[in-house]
Amino acid sequence: MAAKDIEHLDVLIVGAGLSGVGAAWRLQQEMPGATYALLERREAIGGTWDLFRYPGVRSDSDMFTLAYPFRPWKGEKSISSGDSIRNYIRDTADEAGITRHIRFGTKVLRSSFSSETALWTVEAETADGPRTYTANFLYMCSGYYAYDHGYQPEFPGREDFAGTWVHPQFWPEDLVYAGKKVVVIGSGATAVTLIPAMAQDAEHVTMLQRSPSYLTVLPESDPAADRLRKLLPPTVAHTLLRMQYVTLTQAFYQLARRRPERVKKILRGLAVRALKDESYVDEHFTPTYEPWDQRLCVVPDGDFFRAIRDGRASVATDQIERITEKGILLRSGEELEADIIVSATGLSLQPLGGMQIDVDGTQVDIGDTVAYRGMMLSGVPNLAFCIGYVNASWTLRADLVNRYVPKLLKHMRDKGFAIATPFAERTGDRPLLDLTSGYVQRSKHLFPKQGERDPWRLRQNFFSDALRMNRADVEKDMALIPKSALKNKELAS
Ligand SMILES: Cc1cc2nc3c(=O)[nH]c(=O)nc-3n(C[C@H](O)[C@H](O)[C@H](O)COP(=O)(O)OP(=O)(O)OC[C@H]3O[C@@H](n4cnc5c(N)ncnc54)[C@H](O)[C@@H]3O)c2cc1C
Repeated sequence: MAAKDIEHLDVLIVGAGLSGVGAAWRLQQEMPGATYALLERREAIGGTWDLFRYPGVRSDSDMFTLAYPFRPWKGEKSISSGDSIRNYIRDTADEAGITRHIRFGTKVLRSSFSSETALWTVEAETADGPRTYTANFLYMCSGYYAYDHGYQPEFPGREDFAGTWVHPQFWPEDLVYAGKKVVVIGSGATAVTLIPAMAQDAEHVTMLQRSPSYLTVLPESDPAADRLRKLLPPTVAHTLLRMQYVTLTQAFYQLARRRPERVKKILRGLAVRALKDESYVDEHFTPTYEPWDQRLCVVPDGDFFRAIRDGRASVATDQIERITEKGILLRSGEELEADIIVSATGLSLQPLGGMQIDVDGTQVDIGDTVAYRGMMLSGVPNLAFCIGYVNASWTLRADLVNRYVPKLLKHMRDKGFAIATPFAERTGDRPLLDLTSGYVQRSKHLFPKQGERDPWRLRQNFFSDALRMNRADVEKDMALIPKSALKNKELAS
């Protein structure tokens, strides 16, 4: 490819979801002169919130912390629909002039770093053929799961099923479920969201779970927050509410880790109050793991429990023997009839949007690297990635990383450094995402590990992270090479 066909940017951001748009906003703010583009494989802004279209799709964290700190959430509900989150991300990008920097329909496949030039060469695929970019810094805001496929276990007999099989990641727009018998396989956030929404029109919806999950009932709207939002300027109210919600969720998380028995009791109490049936709660909503070993599922205003109470939905805790023509045969011998089976079996996790990387011609196995501040890879220069919290709103952590990246870039610019590479003495082998959930366990070998000490340890604690990232010495455990030491100074300038 001729050099003139290669577009060069100071920073390339991959992904135009919640994180990528937030990253561009912070970059524009902190480094107004920097050239940047967002490469986005899809034709729309929003990532997760544009892809997932199943009935009832919504956040399961409050919007005061899922929204950006710099753009107040003005929506009515504190737990909000996928549509309104998508609109919020899109409007943020439009208002800040970020949208014109997005190259839609551009899927990044491979990136190679050259230490001679201190440049990444990024190869992407578009409808018009391959495209190549070069960049001084690569920032992966590509989420944490595969966009091409969800997780779909092999169930024996699936080909015998005469009805419709659906995975929530690819919801058919024209799927009619009114008056139909539906079985949803799974007990995670997606199942708990889908079921009350589908139960409004379906003949009946059964949730089939192998084992129970913890559910917590939360109000969908917050009247006290609404009053505050009427009284105070939007940014002040948003900041106060953000602090209030982050404090509450972090305190609850800490309580769950330190006093699990107490939290089990609280969660059981909420379920019993909503369902009004203790034995049903004991049978179907009493997990064997500790609260927050896996993500807690939110039930806004108790809608899921209400659907069960009204007889529109029910739960079967059992295992699949095989799929039949008419539905699902369970190990217990019972057969669940279904016109539609929704396989809410989860995501297929994937680091860096599936991109392959090499440094000076040597392929990097991401699973062999250690994460530096949970945002860079040991031995990989000039590359950051954005991963949010698993125990709180994604954005809380994503925004800390989005602010840290320009801090590092400014430091490099001001001190004349061309290359920044985190170097680790191997300090541990903890998985990056510390949850026992199947979807995390299945893919933990693909993700970088975390170490035992700062800055290699990933804490699920917003307050401690905010303090550490703010005060961080960007040179700690970082090999920095000045521009003047590069072999090919011309290209790197
Ligand atoms: C159904 C569902 C519900 C969720 N609910 C919540 C919630 O309530 N609260 C919460 O905190 N978190 C939630 N999450 C986690 C959620 O993913 C985050 O909230 C957040 O949206 C992540 O934003 P992101 O921009 O980092 O990643 P994504 O939203 O995944 O966006 C990544 C973007 O990168 C693009 N991309 C990926 N690979 C490439 C590539 N190779 N080349 C070019 N572009 C690429 C994608 O097309 C996408 O647009 C939920 C996740 C799911 C799946």
